[in-house]
Amino acid sequence: MTLDAAPLDYADPALHAQGLWIGGKWHPGGGIPVIDPARGLPIAEVPDAGIDAALAAVDAADAAAAGWRATPHRQRSEILRRMFTRMTEEAEALARLIALENGKALSDARGEVAYAAEFFRWYAEEATRIAGEFRRTPSGSHNILVDHEPIGICLLITPWNFPAAMATRKIGPALAAGCTVILKPASETPLTAYAMARIAADCGVPPGVINVITTTQPGPVTSAILGDPRVRKLSFTGSTGVGRTLLAEAARSVVSCSMELGGNAPFLVFDDADLDAALDGAMVAKMRNAGEACTAANRFYVQEGIHDAFVAGLAARMAALKVGPGTDPATQCGPMITRRSVQKIDRLVSDAVARGARIVTGGAVPPGEGFYYPPTVLENVMPEAPIAHEEIFGPVAPVYRFRTEDEAIRLANTTEYGLAAYVYSRDLARALRVSRGIEAGMIGVNRGLMSDPAAPFGGVKQSGLGREGGVTGILDFLEAKYLAVDF
Ligand code: NAD
Repeated sequence: MTLDAAPLDYADPALHAQGLWIGGKWHPGGGIPVIDPARGLPIAEVPDAGIDAALAAVDAADAAAAGWRATPHRQRSEILRRMFTRMTEEAEALARLIALENGKALSDARGEVAYAAEFFRWYAEEATRIAGEFRRTPSGSHNILVDHEPIGICLLITPWNFPAAMATRKIGPALAAGCTVILKPASETPLTAYAMARIAADCGVPPGVINVITTTQPGPVTSAILGDPRVRKLSFTGSTGVGRTLLAEAARSVVSCSMELGGNAPFLVFDDADLDAALDGAMVAKMRNAGEACTAANRFYVQEGIHDAFVAGLAARMAALKVGPGTDPATQCGPMITRRSVQKIDRLVSDAVARGARIVTGGAVPPGEGFYYPPTVLENVMPEAPIAHEEIFGPVAPVYRFRTEDEAIRLANTTEYGLAAYVYSRDLARALRVSRGIEAGMIGVNRGLMSDPAAPFGGVKQSGLGREGGVTGILDFLEAKYLAVDF
């Protein structure tokens, strides 16, 4: 296919279910049904890769490695820029595909496509700015020359909640750095990943530079890939539990790891906050992707003077949301990804209620088809309830009351996670002081959305290792090589 070919309908699931993408070719097969979460019915089937296919992907990435590494940075940059342009041109169809297989509302899917495409534009720009270093040693003994080389073949593992953006956030910097990759997307949302492969091929990414495999046996397949000495990097986005397993697996062959893991974001609202701004921010921080986001506000801590007004305002906004299939343009809250997710949310809410929480709105699984959970607000939640410690990953907002600034910081930090947090206060000195006290990689100060390709995204504590995006994101895909030079 070339850029001049007739436009494809990227929203057509059948287009992306043609096989594993290895070495620039489709390798047909089946075995993994893709389910529409709005109806609980299959919409396509993609192949189930075993270990042989996984190692064939490593072979393909290896065969392409020398050529891609030698490709001038400007040329890599221009290919990435074309991928940005193509994604932008196909944005509406890609958004429909994401809404179909993931279930998120079309408006969220459109936002995701725009965000995802920006990683290609950002890393098209960064590809030409990979810096080196040259200086004398302090003693004057010799010269230090530092070059940055591509780290090697990368295994990229992504979750289902942002099927485009989590892939481009890794592919963009990896390709800019000169690495070849194997992408293993989540089995729930493989079609978007295969659409990315098709776009990359259309835009001139050579065969084998990007390979995509789907599998129902991620453990053994990952193990085989990481056990191959040609593979030098694992970049993972997903749950903390799987991240821990993969860190142990990667340790066996000392593979470099970047880990973007789970979150349990606190959302702090002080008495002096602008109530409407805090409510607007709360809706974004909670309801983007119907709560299925690692940065989703998981715990609302609201100071006692503003607590009741905040709960009333949040409940009114949550109750007004239109719930429905993601593909319906009127939908504001789509279905959850699986029935199991709905069951988990239901368990957390029932447990909180059994411990004394009050349901202000929502709180019951609706009858009928699809994996729905209604927008829900809980108040009077006990801080020891599991809902305060586990990722809800759904449209549920538990609200807790606090009195003092110190108490708010202490409550915010009572978690093993440290990805994102939010602080609302009109007093900027307080907001910055509180932000300093919170153990998180990212803090939204009077803002409910922080993700931006130009900013470093990532967490502390058990939310991960490393940062994606920004000027440092490319470093994870480069190795510094030091030459001690006399001349
Ligand atoms: P998950 O950990 O279940 O799966 C993530 C990926 O890992 C999928 O591709 C899955 O197939 C694969 N996987 C599962 N078990 C594996 C194994 N044993 N070996 C190798 N791969 C394996 O997570 P999920 O349910 O897809 O996504 C939701 C999670 O991702 C949440 O915890 C969320 O917070 C997190 N997340 C984090 C970020 C971030 O940037 N920090 C972004 C999005 C999602």
